[in-house]
Amino acid sequence: MTSVENTCSGPDCGKIVDGSLKCPVCLKTGVNAFFCDQTCFKRNWALHKSVHSPAGQETTDPFPNYSYSGDLRAVYPLHPRREVKPNIVKPDYAGDGQPISEQKVQRSTQITVLSEDEQNTMRKVSKLAREVLDAGAAAIKPGVTTEEIDAIVHAACMERNAYPSPLNYYNFPKSVCTSVNEVICHGIPDKRPLQDGDIVNLDVTIYKDGFHADLNETYYVGDKAKANKDVVRLVETTRQCLAKAIEAVKPGVMYRSLGEVIENEAKKANLSVIRTYCGHGINQLFHCAPNVPHYARNKAVGVMKPGHTFTIEPMLSLGSFKDQTWPDNWTAVTSDGKWSAQFEHTLLVTETGVEILTARYKNSPGGPVSA
Ligand SMILES: [Zn+2]
Ligand SMILES: [Zn+2]
Repeated sequence: MTSVENTCSGPDCGKIVDGSLKCPVCLKTGVNAFFCDQTCFKRNWALHKSVHSPAGQETTDPFPNYSYSGDLRAVYPLHPRREVKPNIVKPDYAGDGQPISEQKVQRSTQITVLSEDEQNTMRKVSKLAREVLDAGAAAIKPGVTTEEIDAIVHAACMERNAYPSPLNYYNFPKSVCTSVNEVICHGIPDKRPLQDGDIVNLDVTIYKDGFHADLNETYYVGDKAKANKDVVRLVETTRQCLAKAIEAVKPGVMYRSLGEVIENEAKKANLSVIRTYCGHGINQLFHCAPNVPHYARNKAVGVMKPGHTFTIEPMLSLGSFKDQTWPDNWTAVTSDGKWSAQFEHTLLVTETGVEILTARYKNSPGGPVSA
């Protein structure tokens, strides 16, 4: 028999708990919501109490005094943390949110070269990650909440005996990042229904057989978004930026040169490149060397070699490149509220060039529309 560990219900916590402290209000409705201690319980009360209203009732903006940069609002309550099947092997941060193995090599610029066997595992895990993204993307339509998409992504991971890497990474509360309209990245799935005319990015990472694989795409919601020329220019140019940068990947190329390729392409379409968030090495660790900025004249360290696995994930915006973060400490938005799009693949440097490990299938949802 395997016992399921209980985790703290504090939205900013998620530590493993001994089960002695339960929320008294939840308990009355027969729900076990555990907290690690009184301080955590008090700190998280404002966020936690929203789960007391039954599903489908009263949703609210948890940050009514925050000056949002655009039209999008957070819509809470959040669904309680989703359980991971006990047989699934978890990364080191799944319990307390701290990726210790990553933190140990945080300052290192040394890039791991994967063996043939390890490359094969990355191939396999990346294909599964693509399937998970496609499952989430297939559900996108007006009226569906990003939290419903999170549930689908989580279930798709469970079906494949994979851990959804974002879950509890530095205490991130969900299994996927959903970034709508002016959200650049790291959006938290919530109760806001998608609207015809929105764009939404799904960023999926899974962990299986000791390796992570990471990909994302931006999708048009309904038909209105596809009819908006600015939105199509944004989304299609961003898609193109990733494709162009991938074409430049081969042994001997400097990682810092990818930023030139991306920013040149963005400039031609009068779009700006977000600077705060970068591509990254990915293997046994979710995020590691190399650091891969998407803007020109960056000073990133490292030269591509066969056996490197890393992501390119450009974020472009219709307005300023400047970003700010919501009070949830995750959701990165443009500071002028103009919309932003992103695309990402996990890549393997080969002897002759590059292999797109998370490549689309013929029937993958989404894909380009013509301007
Ligand atoms: Zn990603
Ligand atoms: Zn990534």
